[in-house]
Amino acid sequence: MGTRYHIRFQLPVSSFDAVALQTAVDARLEALNASLSTYRSDSLITVFNDALPGQVMLVDIDFQNMVRMSRHVHLASGGAFDPTVGDLVNLWGFGWPKPEQPLIRMPEPAAIKAAKARFDAVEQPAPGQVVKRLPLRLDFSAIAKGYGVDMIAQVVRAHGVANFIVEIGGEVATRGRGPSGGPWRIGIEEPDPTRTGRVLARLELSDASLATSGHYRNFLEIEGRRYSHVIDPVSGYPVPDPPLSVSVLASNVALADAWATAFMVLDESRGLALAEENQLAVYWVFERDGVRRTQQSSYLQPYLAPEAGAH
Ligand code: ADP
Ligand code: MG
Repeated sequence: MGTRYHIRFQLPVSSFDAVALQTAVDARLEALNASLSTYRSDSLITVFNDALPGQVMLVDIDFQNMVRMSRHVHLASGGAFDPTVGDLVNLWGFGWPKPEQPLIRMPEPAAIKAAKARFDAVEQPAPGQVVKRLPLRLDFSAIAKGYGVDMIAQVVRAHGVANFIVEIGGEVATRGRGPSGGPWRIGIEEPDPTRTGRVLARLELSDASLATSGHYRNFLEIEGRRYSHVIDPVSGYPVPDPPLSVSVLASNVALADAWATAFMVLDESRGLALAEENQLAVYWVFERDGVRRTQQSSYLQPYLAPEAGAH
């Protein structure tokens, strides 16, 4: 997944085998990569992407889950989330392998049109089967890390651990209690790598699923303008002036991850309306003309830690 993971947990009282847990976690991650990694030439997703339209493929349960959950967020976000952005991602130079030279000018409009996202052309004719009706490439990068967190949380739970936190590249699942005996406390940091660490909001989470999408970590610069690595599937262009970051709490981390990406595409009022409609706790950080501003949905309130000194 191109990043690192952390698991922190309270040792169960009964016997516990740390080596067995580590082995199980690594095996689960390996299975996910074998299915979903676009970095690998032999993964299921790469085989699907290289296949001809009309060729029905048998896929594993993780791949099926990714298609199903992506479909849910795709429809609920009005198409802002679309995992068939694979050709666009490559065209704009965000794909794998990384282009030898960074993009210096915009792709041709005809090329952008040809690479258009079209998730409605991905069908599941029967359980376990997937087929594309048009030439396209899937890219689950915006949801698979979150899904990985959900899957690792299941593994940790199955090893008798009740109080833990799992994190892959900033996507987080918490269960039970943190080291203080209360909920896990998580800060949403100022999205600015040079000003490390100022916490904008403090969350108290026990059984929660949190994901963050941020413009600041990965962007493209063409002729002095910055472009997000998140692409608007409707226009085919990287999102101009997206939020600095969006953090989302949802019923699982896969959905939170996908929604966080969708909110990078959606403008702020439409994003807020969809967050309310879908009962999502969302925290946005914007910056325009050097002025930083935040916005949150009403569902975030119960997760906010009381201000120090306030009761
Ligand atoms: P990150 O993985 O960097 O934390 P995201 O979860 O937002 O950030 O995923 C961004 C990645 O998802 C992009 O690099 C690209 O591969 C893919 N992507 C870009 N735009 C979209 C989109 N509108 N819908 C779905 N996936 C997208
Ligand atoms: Mg995402």
